[in-house]
Amino acid sequence: MKVKLPVRRAILLRQTYEAPAEGRFGKVRLDFNENTSGCSPAVLRALAKLSAKKLAMYPEYAGTTEKLARHYGVDPDELLLTNGGDEAIRVFFDSFVDAGSRLLICEPTFPMYRYYGEIAGAKIDTVRYGLEMEFPRQDLFVALKKKPRVLFIANPNNPTGTLISIAEIKRILDAAQNTAVVIDEAYAEFSGVTVVPLIHKYPNLFVTRTFSKAAGLASLRLGSVMACAESVGILRRAMSPFAVNAAVLVAAEAAVSDADRIKKIVRNTKRVREWFAKELKNIGARTFASAGNFLLVDFGPNGPDLVRQLEAKGILLRGRKDGMVRITIGTSEEMKLVTRELKALIGKGGL
Ligand code: PMP
Repeated sequence: MKVKLPVRRAILLRQTYEAPAEGRFGKVRLDFNENTSGCSPAVLRALAKLSAKKLAMYPEYAGTTEKLARHYGVDPDELLLTNGGDEAIRVFFDSFVDAGSRLLICEPTFPMYRYYGEIAGAKIDTVRYGLEMEFPRQDLFVALKKKPRVLFIANPNNPTGTLISIAEIKRILDAAQNTAVVIDEAYAEFSGVTVVPLIHKYPNLFVTRTFSKAAGLASLRLGSVMACAESVGILRRAMSPFAVNAAVLVAAEAAVSDADRIKKIVRNTKRVREWFAKELKNIGARTFASAGNFLLVDFGPNGPDLVRQLEAKGILLRGRKDGMVRITIGTSEEMKLVTRELKALIGKGGL
């Protein structure tokens, strides 16, 4: 069919490509940084209690917002619930970014910052993590002089695993008073580092979170943004009224009520991550220190081939354009399996 529609220029020019993620169920999924053990059983019990009448109603947010605000240690008017961490990112574009506005990101990082930036028609400035995946602090301070509307920093960063300190973030906030500084804490449960308490001091600070990682609710889609009430108020103006569904509200309440489960997931993930990093080193691969539930691995020129061969065996890893591979830390059994398969593929000669 011939389509003659007035498509926006930014949409025609958009380049960021997201790999389709279908047919993954039943495989060893170490490609999306999910919690491969699954969510708390308390979540399943809460979901089973949903009634037909409840589902027929538009969702109401006050009760869950209050409970989750308490969980994060903020006031309800400092917390905005969103449809996954992705929407928590998108809302900054609708609130602050006009076509041609500047946006600053530190690459390699989570691709959705660039993705939404391209849709918005933003001018995207980038600074790059170093060869050891260290945070590009000097370049960042230079780039901030151009006064971007929004700066995104994932902390810990995906895919590098890099963690920056609270002191460092304070310096950035001081230097970027006219910029919305978004600290994406999707993996904060694993790093144990959060700047949420700083929202009372810095009106330019926004912290995003998600229930897709440690809490194991990626399919239900719940994220959030925390900032001072006035700054959250700006974002609220750009939100759809019913962006978050009722099922995830009860699921999230149940997930935070089972704090032990999340603690256990985090403890196991960290232990297995250190074990797996050692195994990778033994087979001659290079890894980078990670504060998340994943490792960035350099297998050298064999990387893409290893990813393909493991995929053929039902083990999914995330191969990157630069040849490196990001591997989610799954259960101890899953990581033993992938280690065994890697060793078998690499053979005695090493990489
Ligand atoms: N931020 C970062 C840094 C991520 O890695 C991800 C998911 N991979 C997200 C946000 C968004 O996740 P979700 O939309 O599932 O909450």
